[in-house]
Amino acid sequence: MPWRRCVGCRESKEKDRLVRFVARDGRLTIDRAGTLHGRGVYLCPSKECVDRVYKKRDVFSRSLRTGVSVPEKEELLRWMGITSGGEEGIGPGGKRA
Ligand SMILES: [Zn+2]
Repeated sequence: MPWRRCVGCRESKEKDRLVRFVARDGRLTIDRAGTLHGRGVYLCPSKECVDRVYKKRDVFSRSLRTGVSVPEKEELLRWMGITSGGEEGIGPGGKRA
């Protein structure tokens, strides 16, 4: 299993313990299956790492070497199946109620 580095905490972990994102049509896209082509950026499935990335706005663009528009943090957390706490009705899978 190859190892990849999380852009949030900068720790290297096995690839399947991280969530992969790619740029698609200028937008950040989650790569759930890990099969989309192109440069990927990896993130732990944890709110802490998402928080870290969103404190530095251009992390995704710099890591992907291309300008990407990034969703709101809450949206990204939903993609990753992370709820930000206190909210109900949003389960894993990120479907909006
Ligand atoms: Zn991390």
